[in-house]
Amino acid sequence: MNPNNNLTVSTSAKTVPKIDCHTHIVNAAIRDAYFSRTDAIALVMQMPASIMPNPDCIKTVLSDPRLFLCAAIDLKQPIEPQLSAIEPQIEPHKIVGLKIYLTYQRGRANDEKMYPIYAFARRYRLTVTFHTGLCSLVLPTDNDMEGSNAKYIEMAARDFPDVNFVIAHLDDPRFTDCVEILSRNDNLFSDVSGAYETGTKEGNDVDGAIEIFKAAILSKPGMARKILYGTDFCPPINLAQLDEYDTTIERIFQPADFRAVYYENCLRAFPRLRDLLSQDEKRKDVTHGSNQ
Ligand SMILES: [Zn+2]
Repeated sequence: MNPNNNLTVSTSAKTVPKIDCHTHIVNAAIRDAYFSRTDAIALVMQMPASIMPNPDCIKTVLSDPRLFLCAAIDLKQPIEPQLSAIEPQIEPHKIVGLKIYLTYQRGRANDEKMYPIYAFARRYRLTVTFHTGLCSLVLPTDNDMEGSNAKYIEMAARDFPDVNFVIAHLDDPRFTDCVEILSRNDNLFSDVSGAYETGTKEGNDVDGAIEIFKAAILSKPGMARKILYGTDFCPPINLAQLDEYDTTIERIFQPADFRAVYYENCLRAFPRLRDLLSQDEKRKDVTHGSNQ
């Protein structure tokens, strides 16, 4: 065994550009804590107020060019008025996706009432992220574990092949079934964000948890194009882990795949994010050119 191997791997993982597909940077304190530790681009998952009030969420997203928004859909409120309210905000609020809190809120991804959400997502190139599987230890929840099963997301994904869906948390703990579902659907992606919440079994045994993720993720080929880097960063609910996700990616994937997992997969999964970042690049080029 080459004793320098680990060093080489961790150095390259630390230097690749990152897009964190799943955070809750919903106020200035969380934003400052996050960017004191990383320079990643980050998607902010807005939360329904009934799960966790986050009145400064949009203001926070607008305060930093590295932040983009996934607007919450509250399943306990009528859907259509929420979509009407989101529509004019897509541009000004840098919305790149929608977030649906399955398990926390009763419902299945293929319920009829969900379909207008996907039609809306298709119209505006938005990506739909679902919470799946177990919930945070500290947030109120309906605990509808069956409702969030990825098998229902697969049915919705097949009805909307032009919309991308993210099965957040790899359907914890139905990991192997989730990987099987990912492997047969081009428009499905996943992450292991939120895995190491303080007080959980995984948080207490990160090495053990990584082994479980690794066995599931490597049970099918091609997962280096399906798994996104995501942390669920939200220190007020005991989710402040960042280094643990680098370790996870380093132990599961090959260095040649780091760029895909940390950055490129997220651009494929979130077409509107890709559009906005390439506009940014063009603007920078123009500014740069005019300064010379
Ligand atoms: Zn989350």
